[in-house]
Amino acid sequence: MKNPKTKSVAAPAVRDGSNARPRPRPVRPYGYSRAEVDEIFRRFSMQRPEPKGELEHSNAFTLLVAVVLSAQATDAGVNKATRGLFAAADTPEKMAALGEERVGAFIRTIGLWRGKARNVIALSEALIRDHGGEVPDSRDELVKLPGVGRKTANVVLNSVFGQPTMAVDTHILRLGNRLLLAPGKTPEQVEAGLVRIIPPRYMRHAHHWLILHGRYVCKARKPDCPRCVIADLCKSPEKWSSIPAPLVPIAPEIDAASSQEP
Ligand code: SF4
Repeated sequence: MKNPKTKSVAAPAVRDGSNARPRPRPVRPYGYSRAEVDEIFRRFSMQRPEPKGELEHSNAFTLLVAVVLSAQATDAGVNKATRGLFAAADTPEKMAALGEERVGAFIRTIGLWRGKARNVIALSEALIRDHGGEVPDSRDELVKLPGVGRKTANVVLNSVFGQPTMAVDTHILRLGNRLLLAPGKTPEQVEAGLVRIIPPRYMRHAHHWLILHGRYVCKARKPDCPRCVIADLCKSPEKWSSIPAPLVPIAPEIDAASSQEP
């Protein structure tokens, strides 16, 4: 007898013996239907229609430098240091002319500042030498720059060039696993899972939505489920409330004002 609780996972491939192709299987990441994933990101898009990264920058180069400086540092701490640095140098040419010692003096309040100052000068020189002073729009080229890893490259490709990349930081790694949206041991596994399931029209901002959700609601120590707009959809074993919070737009300034957590 058929168990009434058993859900069919996917439509079987239909073949009629002719040239018919099997139907594509719907994406069902760990029990989420495609409609549920779509609804999760629709709500994030309503909540933060134009999310902004919290690292202050004025062009592709200053974003690249800010992301390099942000490793093991808070965005607020990086912003404090880069206001002076970027006022003095907002292009690779000006940065290279500034020199390692003066860059170091601007960023001394950030962890690992000596190595970061060295990398900022080396990457500025590499941009001048190999890319005509422009930030390249390819991951392969970006990760060749000193101090630039896959995560930094993905942030730049997404924020500057609008590419559908997913930079997996500590918040996104946690959310991919906790929500069972894209479980994985490594950032690369979670990145691949998220890129596979997130509807393309939401890829541009998905990175920011997930980071902000992880930073302010689905926090590391304990998720704040009563404040969560996707509480009814979430399939996390750690969820402790299923009533979704009201879907109210949040202004970027409100996020920025509370951006003290790493
Ligand atoms: S319901 Fe709770 S566990 Fe699920 S995403 Fe929201 S805050 Fe995180």
